[in-house]
Amino acid sequence: MLCNATYISKAIPLPEYVIEALSTLESSGFEAWCVGGCVRDALLERHVNDYDIATNARWEDVERVMASSGFAVHRTGAKHGTVTVSRNGHAMEITTYRADGEYTDGRHPDCVEFVRTIEEDLARRDFTINAMAYHPDRGILDCWGGMADLDAGMIRVVGDGNERFSEDALRILRGCRFASQLGFSLEADTKQAMWSHKMRMSHVSAERITHELTEMLLGEHVRDALMECIDIIGAVLPEVVAMKGFEQHTPYHIYDVWEHTAWVVQRSPRTPLGRWAALLHDSGKPGAFFMDGDRGHFYGHPLLSVEIARGALSRLSLSPAFVADVLTLVRLHDKTIPATTKAVKRTLAEFGGDIELFRTLIGIKKADALAQSALSEPRIQLASDLEVVLDNVIASQDAFTIGQLAVNGKDIMSLGVPEGPRVGGILSELLSSVIDEKLPNDRNALLDAAASIAKTQAS
Ligand code: ATP
Ligand code: MG
Repeated sequence: MLCNATYISKAIPLPEYVIEALSTLESSGFEAWCVGGCVRDALLERHVNDYDIATNARWEDVERVMASSGFAVHRTGAKHGTVTVSRNGHAMEITTYRADGEYTDGRHPDCVEFVRTIEEDLARRDFTINAMAYHPDRGILDCWGGMADLDAGMIRVVGDGNERFSEDALRILRGCRFASQLGFSLEADTKQAMWSHKMRMSHVSAERITHELTEMLLGEHVRDALMECIDIIGAVLPEVVAMKGFEQHTPYHIYDVWEHTAWVVQRSPRTPLGRWAALLHDSGKPGAFFMDGDRGHFYGHPLLSVEIARGALSRLSLSPAFVADVLTLVRLHDKTIPATTKAVKRTLAEFGGDIELFRTLIGIKKADALAQSALSEPRIQLASDLEVVLDNVIASQDAFTIGQLAVNGKDIMSLGVPEGPRVGGILSELLSSVIDEKLPNDRNALLDAAASIAKTQAS
């Protein structure tokens, strides 16, 4: 499956360290190109995340030549022909031209085969827009029509989709990821092949699936991609499928549950936490639904969403702390928090002082209200008011965590309370009283109050 090499003379701006890396390799008699995402993103005038270089030098030669030119060299993936080099804190991956071997398990290439030419290396890449190479003197090497697809906004697989998605099913999800990041359409044959092979994604590791799903959720065009790719996402995250087309039958809603969700994701804070919580916030709605006359209701759906989200996230590769935060946001997305100092401090106390978690919750609440009918406008205002109160609380330096109290655990123990959970319990009670303005955050006042709580508990 080799291409017709087409060189397009067009200049792409490259950072100095990349130009130095290319010229170091080439002045030592090797060939080197920038490849993949950096060429795509530079042509689109988007931010380039990282620069990857492909070369005909073996990794041992890359190490030797780059080290002697003063680059720091890290042996990160010698087995796959990859060496990471860096200069002034800028890292690049340099990989020997390779073609992936057979993928008997649909997960990993059984072996990587090193090849002689850049054309062979480009042929193993997933999509035409990711299969271009660039060198400042030679221009763009575009074997698969990547430039035309960039212009047309099209995601098209390199070669035969049935073969390429059978080799590595993660590419199916990557197609949706690039649609979300770039706002591109899936070319018809590519799309057909993605859909027909989607169940092969069950063999792909949780780490790779999680990475692509997260990248997809963070995409600028995520609403459109979620709408288009629900059937693909459903093959790895069946918990979302029931939302598709689920009509809400309430005057507060203008979309079905999935389209509403897609909008909420799009407008939620652009962080993995904000986006994952938005994706799953209403997953319990289909289960909680009942009709009363011509009105639909979803009472209690956040708790069902929490259980569904817990199941979905447990199969992915996410840290327990991250999952706990997502579940907190899902649980509270629909809870009314009045825009008052006390309510804001209480919520902060519940979050252990995690201001970012609270900001994310407010962001999700706003996104949720924005994706509803005009009847929900007061909730948009409430979310904005909460933001203002939160900023004031933070600026005031008032206590909203145990750590900010004028007494600590040692002080409580000095009153005769033995080390253990009672100490924390008393501190929590003191914090509640301070937040409710029943007590000042004053050492003597708190010690007196602690002594009387301890006495009541002891009697
Ligand atoms: P990003 O900016 O998110 O890093 P990227 O295009 O660089 O985007 P990577 O996952 O870093 O994406 O992959 C680098 C390049 O390697 C891709 O552009 C593509 O050419 C190739 N590639 C990555 N994963 C695959 C895969 N599963 N199958 C085929 N080619 C792949
Ligand atoms: Mg990359």
